[in-house]
Amino acid sequence: MRKALVVIDMLRDFMSEGGALYCGPEARRVVGPIRGKLEAFREAGDPVIFVCDRHRPEDAEFDVFPLHCVEGTPGAEVIGELEPREGEVIVTKRRYSGFFGTDLDITLRELEVGELVLVGVCTDICVLYTAADARNLGYSVTVPADCVASFDDEAHEFALRAMERTLGVKVAR
Ligand code: ZN
Repeated sequence: MRKALVVIDMLRDFMSEGGALYCGPEARRVVGPIRGKLEAFREAGDPVIFVCDRHRPEDAEFDVFPLHCVEGTPGAEVIGELEPREGEVIVTKRRYSGFFGTDLDITLRELEVGELVLVGVCTDICVLYTAADARNLGYSVTVPADCVASFDDEAHEFALRAMERTLGVKVAR
């Protein structure tokens, strides 16, 4: 079974100053380490998949969060530093989990992937719910702590603990 890098929500609305739901300067620390992972996976020929929030303007998620990552807007694009290469898969999602209502699972199965390395934002929201579904579906999951971040430090730490202790995720610190 192969290993895939899953890059979650590294989008302008979350990662750029002035973005609709900017995660803050602290979250920017993940960009460098994620670039490193991207390079390593690309060099090894292992699959890289971008999982990206892409909402309709009337999406139900906007009952909970302000408008962000609306389809067709620049805020819904991957930040320039991590730009996907031609041929790399982009899976769009309307909910927190990258698996919910998407073709991520069959895409990974077609690629014969059994192990996921999850990176991106936010640790306690989309990374956590994607990790939960991945574990429920039987994937091995690793989360490098230096490659995930949140606007909420306490929630970030809680999510790392929950992933490690409850979901059996390998949290690499
Ligand atoms: Zn969203």
